[in-house]
Amino acid sequence: MPKPGELTFVAPRGAKPPRHLADLSPAERKEAVAELGEQPFRAKQLSNHYFGRMSNDPESWTDIPAASRGKLTEALLPELMSVVRHVSCDDDETRKTLWKLFDGTLVESVLMRYPDRVTMCISSQAGCGMNCPFCATGQAGLTRNLSTAEIVEQIAAGMRDLKSGSVAGGEARLSNVVFMGMGEPLANYNRVLSAIRRLTDPAPDGFGLSQRGITVSTVGLVPAMHRFADEGLSCRLALSLHAPDDELRDELVPVNTRWKVAEVLDAAWNYAEKSGRRVSIEYALIKDINDQAWRADLLGRLIKNQRVHVNLIPLNPTPGSKWTASRPEDEREFVRRLQAHGVPTTVRDTRGQEIDGACGQLAAAG
Ligand code: SF4
Repeated sequence: MPKPGELTFVAPRGAKPPRHLADLSPAERKEAVAELGEQPFRAKQLSNHYFGRMSNDPESWTDIPAASRGKLTEALLPELMSVVRHVSCDDDETRKTLWKLFDGTLVESVLMRYPDRVTMCISSQAGCGMNCPFCATGQAGLTRNLSTAEIVEQIAAGMRDLKSGSVAGGEARLSNVVFMGMGEPLANYNRVLSAIRRLTDPAPDGFGLSQRGITVSTVGLVPAMHRFADEGLSCRLALSLHAPDDELRDELVPVNTRWKVAEVLDAAWNYAEKSGRRVSIEYALIKDINDQAWRADLLGRLIKNQRVHVNLIPLNPTPGSKWTASRPEDEREFVRRLQAHGVPTTVRDTRGQEIDGACGQLAAAG
C-alpha cells in the first residue's frame, strides 16, 4: 500500500480513471465479474463488502476464496485516490481532506460533525468551469469531470473512517451528503446521478443513505435542473443565486448570461414541486456588492410564497481578492428584510474557515 500522499504511478493527463465497482450498476457488476471468469454471485458478495460492510480490505472477505479476492480487487477495486493530507479545525469537528487522484489531480472533501448528524461535502469535478469571480476554484478553471467512483470513494472513505472510529469524536454514521465541494455537479450530470444511485440504493447495491439527506447544488444550469426534476428523486436542490437581479448576477455568476434569474427560479420551483422538497437558495453575502437592503427586498419579493429556504453565506474571502464579507449590521438587516417577506432565512455556519479561505483553496495550495 502506498503511504498517504503517494501513488504507485501518475497517469498522463487525459487518461481515464480506472474502472471501479462503484462505476457500475448491479447488472454491470455481474457482467464484469463474469468477464473475469468468476461466478456472477461474486458481484453481490463484493458489493456486500464494499457497500454493505464498508470494507475495502480483501483479507476480511472470508466468503470469497483467496485467489478470487486478488483477481476481483485488482479488476474492480483499484485504488482511485490517496490522502495528501487531512486538516482539522472547529475543535476537530471539521476534517478537510485533500485527495490526489490517479492522474495527480487534486480534489477535496470535508467531513463535518454536528450534535445530531454527520455531513460530508464532496467534489464532483476537479476545478470548475463556471468562473465565478469571487471563488478560488472558479479562478483555476475546470481540470476534468470526476468519474462516478471518484465521487463515491470520497464518501466511502469517510464512511469507513467514521465506522472505524478513526475520525475525532469516535464512531458514527454518515447522514448527509452535500455536492458543494469543487465543481458544478449538474455539469457532470450522468456521473453525479450514478453516484447518487450508489449512495442511496439499499445495501448491498449501494450505501442505503436517504435521498432526503443528499443536497445537490447548482449555479443554475436550467436544462439540467429540469432533467434532474424528472428523475423522481427526493434529494434537495440548492441554487447558488448570489444576486436577485440579472445585471449583478451576470457578473457574479457568469452562467447567468445564458440563463437569467427568472428562468433559473422557474426551474427551481419546478424541482420543488416535483420533488416535494424546499429549494435552498444559497446567497454569499459580499460587502457592498450584493448585500444592500433593496436587494434583500427584491429577493424577498421574487421568492416569497414558494417552497424555499434562504441560506446566507458570509463570504470566505480569497487571499488578494477585492470581495469580502458583509458588515454584521448589513447581514442582520438582510436577514430581517427577507424574514419580513415571510421567507425562512438562516445564516450558514462557516465550518472550516480556519483552515482555508473559500472553496477550493486547499487544493489550490497543493
Ligand atoms: S462558486 Fe461554485 S460554481 Fe462558481 S466557480 Fe466556484 S465552485 Fe464553480
